[in-house]
Amino acid sequence: TNTESESAADPGALRTPIVAVLGHVDHGKTTLLDRIRGSAVQEGEAGAITQHIGATAVPLETISDMAGSLVDPTDFDLPGLLFIDTPGHHSFSTLRSRGGALADIAVLVVDVNDGFQPQTEEAIDILKRTGTPFVVAANKVDTTPGWNPQEGEPIQRSLEKQSDRAENRLNENLYELIGDLSGKGFSADFYWRVQDFQSNIGVVPVSAMTGEGIPDLLTVLMGLSQRYMKAEMAVDVAGPGVGTVLEVKDERGFGATLDVVLYDGVVREGDTIVVGGRDDPIVTEVRALLQPRPNAEIRTEKRFERVDEVRAAAGVKIAAPDLDEAMSGAPVRVVRGDDVDAVKAEVRKELARIEVD
Ligand code: GDP
Repeated sequence: TNTESESAADPGALRTPIVAVLGHVDHGKTTLLDRIRGSAVQEGEAGAITQHIGATAVPLETISDMAGSLVDPTDFDLPGLLFIDTPGHHSFSTLRSRGGALADIAVLVVDVNDGFQPQTEEAIDILKRTGTPFVVAANKVDTTPGWNPQEGEPIQRSLEKQSDRAENRLNENLYELIGDLSGKGFSADFYWRVQDFQSNIGVVPVSAMTGEGIPDLLTVLMGLSQRYMKAEMAVDVAGPGVGTVLEVKDERGFGATLDVVLYDGVVREGDTIVVGGRDDPIVTEVRALLQPRPNAEIRTEKRFERVDEVRAAAGVKIAAPDLDEAMSGAPVRVVRGDDVDAVKAEVRKELARIEVD
């Protein structure tokens, strides 16, 4: 079958790690995500990033183009990073996979001037509880008095262009941040001094506004995933799809649809799926898989394009009958080979676990 030839052609395929962005309000989560999308586009290549439903995929080649000398692409065999577009710990904590966090890794954004704030603490508690590895983006370095902005540069190259006074001011803030992390039980340091990212938190000075440090942030996320998550990424990429519902949305011409982050396997048009609903799990058949149409004109009705299949990790909109009672945060599973009742039982079990947490 098709599936066999694909998996045979791609035996060691690893899935893309899923990245969430958390942090206190106004510390720059949205700007950071916009910057990552924008600078990847500026790199110029077609397909530099792919806009998914609810997520943005940044391939390894794009990261290595942006990171220049920071990254040797041959050091990596993970395909890139998938950023969930909805920042904030509310979405992080409601989006689960098998009882754990949907995201494999996280970026905790902290305004360097503002330091730890209530939602920073909450985010840290959630990351701790879910055991999610994270890095700290010490954001808004460009607001340091006397800062000489270096658009899109790696942070150490930018630091070379700063006055001693500006660098010292920034360092004071960064050391305070490192102290706050230590108060929370995390030993942290400037990322370039960290050897073991499992026992130490890397702090990456960045500006979401000027793009300084963004190459470093992407490099550190890639390195962290490659080093510590390779085994988890070695899933059966051709197996039955498994995902989490981000949102249930009505779309003209389709009725209720599911915005899903697929974290395992493949989903195809025509597949039978089971999704968690308000009552019993819903069993239905995929009528269409939809992705945002690139460069869609705002006024055109066709905001989406159909695709035949989607592989993890990815964001996708699923159109299917009978989705009105589906719930955001609920699991979605493709039935392929297995018995429908067994998959329903699995979905019921996952829902119960989410409700207990
Ligand atoms: P969110 O609430 O965490 O998503 O924060 P936003 O991304 O909306 O940013 C809050 C404000 O901070 C906005 O006015 C941004 O333009 C500004 N901002 C975000 N990042 C930076 C940065 O790196 N430098 C500067 N100067 N301003 C920033």
